[in-house]
Amino acid sequence: MGNANVIYDGHVQDIGNIGLFQNGELCGTYGKSKRLEALSIKTDSDQLGIEYEGQIQNFGWTDVKRNGELLGTIGQGLRLEAVKIRLTGETSNEFDVYYGVHAENYGDMNWAMNGEPAGTEGLGLRIEGIKIIIVPKSVKLAVGDIRNFAKAEPKPKPKPKPKPVEPLAPAAPVGNLSGKVICIKLGHGGSDPGACGDLRESDMNLTVSLRLGQLLAERGARVVYTRTTDDHVYLSDRPTIANNAGADIFVSIHHNGSRDPSSPGTCAICYPDSDAGIRLATLCLNGLYNRLGLQQRGLIQRDDSDVTYTDMTAVITEASFASCPTDCALFNNGGAELEALGILDGILAYFR
Ligand SMILES: [Zn+2]
Repeated sequence: MGNANVIYDGHVQDIGNIGLFQNGELCGTYGKSKRLEALSIKTDSDQLGIEYEGQIQNFGWTDVKRNGELLGTIGQGLRLEAVKIRLTGETSNEFDVYYGVHAENYGDMNWAMNGEPAGTEGLGLRIEGIKIIIVPKSVKLAVGDIRNFAKAEPKPKPKPKPKPVEPLAPAAPVGNLSGKVICIKLGHGGSDPGACGDLRESDMNLTVSLRLGQLLAERGARVVYTRTTDDHVYLSDRPTIANNAGADIFVSIHHNGSRDPSSPGTCAICYPDSDAGIRLATLCLNGLYNRLGLQQRGLIQRDDSDVTYTDMTAVITEASFASCPTDCALFNNGGAELEALGILDGILAYFR
């Protein structure tokens, strides 16, 4: 087994080419804060080749250079930060290549060997000098405890804080309605089911009205119903009940119907040109839109007996369509509660 010599030269900041070095001599500078910018390496043996790659400022790892090719840049002001060197050729299994760099902030780093990285990566630190030596496998170089390579650890991602999330069905709103008298009219009933589809309107009206009345009473209101069962009350009698009770507002609970089952959505009705009526109806609509999220059909100002013959501010709500399967499905899956809450939102806002 013969010997093999490694021969290398470098290009150093402000100095340029610094000549040939071999077998462990320092190519570069110590303590001068000058970057090694380029390097070329070869052996003097036909049977032993050498290949190498480098980490270059702004570019990352280069492709592989071989047998004297230039690694790095000249005249671009870019530092070499790390290198990997390997032996190739017929006798490469008989030798090891060792290389150690002198790096900014680290000083002399440990020997790396046979393709291991030497230097730093991602730290913005220059190699200032390098020593390279080829030795037979039988010879082991003493290695200290200084690392041959340092790499920037990826910054740990900050743990995201949980975001406060509104519950899907927000809690019933707070509010004080003591001293208020509210008349709830349950549309239809008895032999008159109102609009019909997957659900009967009179049943929907009853469910929502009783729940709304409960929510209003919990907030101190006195609630007067036009019916509390599936009985029929004559249309003309309903405003009379409200008028006799001295109600502050009259809320008539209805649901819509259409020949077109795909027709969905929410609307409200008030007496034409009544400022208080428009305000109450708009507030109830907003509450229903927010809670139910159905199509917004808007406010209708219409001369309807409920809103015409009452002495007080009055509104008719049509939160959804009894004739529309998707509206009915929502009603059966929490929508009735949301509807009562939406009207409650509007009433509370009206008295605020
Ligand atoms: Zn109706």
